[in-house]
Amino acid sequence: MPQEIYEVGEAPPVGEVPPKMYASLIRPSRFGAPRDAFQVEAIDTPTPGPRQVLVYVMAAGTNYNNVWAALGYPVDVIAARQRQGAEEEFHIGGSDASGIVYAVGDEVTNVKVGDEVVLSCGMWDENAPDIVAGGDPMMSSSNKIWGYEENWGSFAQFTLVDHYQCYPKPPNLTWEGAAAYMLVGATAWRMLRGWPPNVVEEGDPVLIWGGAGGLGSMAIQIVREFGGHPIAVVSDESKYEFCLQLGAKGVINRRDFEHWGRLPATDDAEAFGEWAQGARGFGRAFWDALGERRNPKIVFDHPGEATIPTSIFLVDNGGMVVICAGTSGYNADVDLRYLWMRQKRFQGSHFANVEECAEFNDFVAQGRIDPALSRVFQFDEVGESHQLMYENAHPPGNMAILVGAKEEGHKDFPF
Ligand code: NAP
Repeated sequence: MPQEIYEVGEAPPVGEVPPKMYASLIRPSRFGAPRDAFQVEAIDTPTPGPRQVLVYVMAAGTNYNNVWAALGYPVDVIAARQRQGAEEEFHIGGSDASGIVYAVGDEVTNVKVGDEVVLSCGMWDENAPDIVAGGDPMMSSSNKIWGYEENWGSFAQFTLVDHYQCYPKPPNLTWEGAAAYMLVGATAWRMLRGWPPNVVEEGDPVLIWGGAGGLGSMAIQIVREFGGHPIAVVSDESKYEFCLQLGAKGVINRRDFEHWGRLPATDDAEAFGEWAQGARGFGRAFWDALGERRNPKIVFDHPGEATIPTSIFLVDNGGMVVICAGTSGYNADVDLRYLWMRQKRFQGSHFANVEECAEFNDFVAQGRIDPALSRVFQFDEVGESHQLMYENAHPPGNMAILVGAKEEGHKDFPF
């Protein structure tokens, strides 16, 4: 008989799955500030289905999606799942992890018990008609994000994933480093490499909003690796050095400008003139940071409402504004005159497919991309790490949480 439950940081023998586990849960009664929304509770350990894998979590990554889950806004993820038949009255967040395979379903062939893995957060129904027909699974109507839309994320001793979510853990990385990069990195990879012909190439200037953030820290490095010129935007000069170290060619402080947010009415000449002055000033700052008068071939956007008008205005003729979020708001204005006359592209992008995750993971394993790990938290600090992110008070780069790994700095198991 396996032991009923193990304390966090005490690994069961490999392959032995205790019936209960500790998880940092969100319940609807706690929706609100992330600091209070998460609480550690003991619950039943899930059992893998035929094509699923149960992973003993060594470390988990903090991402913005579980700020949203904690708030219960814009989607109550628990109620959304219940409407589709789920019974759990809780949410286990966590969409990034490194860990050890402890159990596999009968049909799993790509990993076995004992393998060291990192997990990607894209999930889908492999039998969905749009996937069987050959479509990109990230475009499938069955697509979901593990540890956000789907339950059993990585803020727990064990997490449940589909087999294709497992990738080899780069041996050069610690457990916490390996847990920090996949969600933001693979998302940035698809944004910059997944939308031909607008892919980053040698010599391309690229504007990266939130350069010191999770996505931004990955985007700077990807652009650098493909020979482009990353120009990062931040809100404080204390973040300049971080971006420059990652390979940014220049950095702009967005606090030097005030024209953010929705566009004024186009027939309000005075207000529109003021807006255009702000946007042109920002454009000059871009040229200064780049060292030449060229506009970005790609603008890497995720703030949304605050930045899209400027992104659309600034991107080069035939260039692309690519967006994966609207953190500052969803009602972003596009001045259509710039879009059609200058034949610009406005492209939505969401996480990444298996090929994109694998390509990105290889770059990390080769040491070409650093996870940009900034701060590591203990298991009872899941809420705290999300609170910092919510307040935009987190340190530059990516944060991770120790789960099975008792302390920082280890690359092996057991240690
Ligand atoms: P993050 O680490 O918090 O970084 C975001 C950065 O955006 C911040 O560091 C901040 O930098 C900047 N920012 C905040 N408000 C801004 C504003 N009003 N105008 C301009 N810049 C602003 O978060 P992240 O991990 O990069 O994620 C960012 C967003 O993308 C979140 O909404 C997240 O949910 C989403 N996301 C989506 C996907 C997907 O697949 N769809 C994947 C990953 C993330 P400064 O204050 O220094 O400018």
